[in-house]
Amino acid sequence: MAIREILLLGDPGLRRRCGQVKRFGTRELKSIIADLRHTLSNFREQNGFGRGIAAPQIGVTQRVIFIHIDRPSALINPRIMLRHGCKITLWDDCFSFPDLMVKVHRDFAVRVSYQDFHGTKHTLHAEGPLSELLQHEIDHLNGILAIDRAIDSRHIILRSEFLKWRNEKHYAL
Ligand SMILES: [Zn+2]
Repeated sequence: MAIREILLLGDPGLRRRCGQVKRFGTRELKSIIADLRHTLSNFREQNGFGRGIAAPQIGVTQRVIFIHIDRPSALINPRIMLRHGCKITLWDDCFSFPDLMVKVHRDFAVRVSYQDFHGTKHTLHAEGPLSELLQHEIDHLNGILAIDRAIDSRHIILRSEFLKWRNEKHYAL
């Protein structure tokens, strides 16, 4: 296990479509998950934010994401089965462009199917913060970044300015 370098906006590796994981319970898969876990916790410690990471962000083009909201968990081959509820609007951020904030629309609720380390299939119903996080991370597996989802180019701003101006009308949700 290791803390891996995070690919940054502009790196072609972030734009590749990741392949399905077909072999489960392997040493390789275990080490991908461990690296995601350690890279995520290191980023949180250093930057004070971060709830999820996707394998392509550490240069691994396989369909694995690692999220940590209430508890840490790895989701393999995650797929959005259903989107429902209203749309929510939020300022999103990403390890791959940590100095930017992007205003996006997401679905309030999603149903996601995924497999665990052993290949067992699960279904997860997610709402609110977990729902929007899953949408962000699953997008990464298809080479899609939050900036691609920006409401418009006026809603891609520097984090420093967001922190300064977030109470202004233009930036309010
Ligand atoms: Zn991201």
